[in-house]
Amino acid sequence: MLTQAMDSFIVASREHKENVKAQYIDKKGLSGAKNYFRASELGSKDRKILYSFFAHNLPRKSKTPKNLRQLANGDGVHERYQTAWEEMGVLISMEERLSSWNDEYLGAKDEKGDRIFPWEWAGHYDGLLDLNILRAHALGLAKVESVFNEETSKYDIQVEIDEAYANSIGLFEADGSLAPDYAPPTLLADIKTMNPWGFKRIKEQGDVSEIGGYIDQISFYMYMMNTPYGSIFIEAKDSNDVVEVQIIWKDMHEGVEYTFDENIHGAQTDEQLRITIDSGRFFGDATREGCVPRLNRLWQVKQELQKADEAGDRDKVIKIFLQHVPRCSDKPDKFPCSWGHKTGKIDGCEFFEHCWSDTHKGMAVRPVEDCPPEALWEFEDENDQPVRIDSRKVPEGVSYEGFIALVEKDAIDYTKFLVDSVEPSDMMAEVDLQKAADSSMHGTKMLFTETGELNLGTPEQATETEEYEVDDSKAIKCVNCHKEVTYKKLAPGMKKKCTFCKHTNQVVRL
Ligand code: SF4
Repeated sequence: MLTQAMDSFIVASREHKENVKAQYIDKKGLSGAKNYFRASELGSKDRKILYSFFAHNLPRKSKTPKNLRQLANGDGVHERYQTAWEEMGVLISMEERLSSWNDEYLGAKDEKGDRIFPWEWAGHYDGLLDLNILRAHALGLAKVESVFNEETSKYDIQVEIDEAYANSIGLFEADGSLAPDYAPPTLLADIKTMNPWGFKRIKEQGDVSEIGGYIDQISFYMYMMNTPYGSIFIEAKDSNDVVEVQIIWKDMHEGVEYTFDENIHGAQTDEQLRITIDSGRFFGDATREGCVPRLNRLWQVKQELQKADEAGDRDKVIKIFLQHVPRCSDKPDKFPCSWGHKTGKIDGCEFFEHCWSDTHKGMAVRPVEDCPPEALWEFEDENDQPVRIDSRKVPEGVSYEGFIALVEKDAIDYTKFLVDSVEPSDMMAEVDLQKAADSSMHGTKMLFTETGELNLGTPEQATETEEYEVDDSKAIKCVNCHKEVTYKKLAPGMKKKCTFCKHTNQVVRL
């Protein structure tokens, strides 16, 4: 009974937390759409980050009570350390929301008042710590005592800093009061909990290749809080062992090169790893894309996807996915799509079901439904090819017969009313060809010879092809294989696919 009661409460309470968090997501509170990059999500690959902007529309795996208990344990660890920092007297601030729009550079506007970086990058940091007081604790110059408080009749925790040390760091005025202009060096601390395998990789093998996202996250906080010192403090979920990944942003301030310093970082032990980062990692350089340019790129793709989706242009959405949004893994049973296959406790990405759909292959930013049979109108085009119209798109009052009559008179572009493509297979074939063409520098149009074989010779530049009449049909010469392709008629704006080499011809109509 207790288990069921707790399971049901933890799920409801999570929903409540999501609602509270949603206050930051869509300021108008209308669509529930996420409209900013989370500082914590840069460790995810592109597709997952892009889906997150459309998550309010997408089917998602709900978190199980077990997942929620794990998250709550993580929150508990954060609270434990944050309370300790407060009691130690090292905590300057914590959990403030940092937004790139509050930064002079990332939030700058052009002369028209538009933001130069139109996206927002935001997150809450775990703690900004006073490095002087931290050092006092590490060196035994801070005495921590439990003192009985007569007024409250309770015991309080009290920290007493060695007087000579306190004077050396300028903590107090001559009269013993706190110095108002005391400005200590600061450390940005980020707490993480980790599974035993990941933890072992870092602590025993010194391998930080899997925590690039954590480093990107803390570098955003360090940048926003203007400190070159950071520390990712990791606790193992199973053993409660800890490891500290100390970070230095070596060129954060012009004219200074920051290095690891025993006064700031303590003596190096096997409980620490040291990592140096630089501005190239953040802003990009000749060899690295960098966080900021990556966000620029992802935002552009997100905007394009949104535009195509709102216009109901399925082909465009599919094309964008094929060209810019690769899957995070090539197999559904590999991390980060799913994991736990060896132990039989399989878990996976929240977008798994949508992303690995058999029909649309995840190339959609909302659920894609096939047209219901009662809304389907079918007829054959001038090439006797079947055409499927989704009659829900046709203006009200137009009957099937009326629609066909308009098509026959060429008075309507029926391609605007086609059933949405659910399966992206045709598009995939086209874009794969395009990729092959681009990499071979020959252009898709020239991939095949007149006889339909792979073109190994020097390509010619393809052009549009003119329509002409043959008996009672119309025809073009395919610009790729030069064969004659006949047909009855083309709707306005339509292209003609060659029946021999499958090249899509741009037709100049009669
Ligand atoms: S299911 Fe896999 S490929 Fe799809 S978004 Fe999730 S991690 Fe990426």
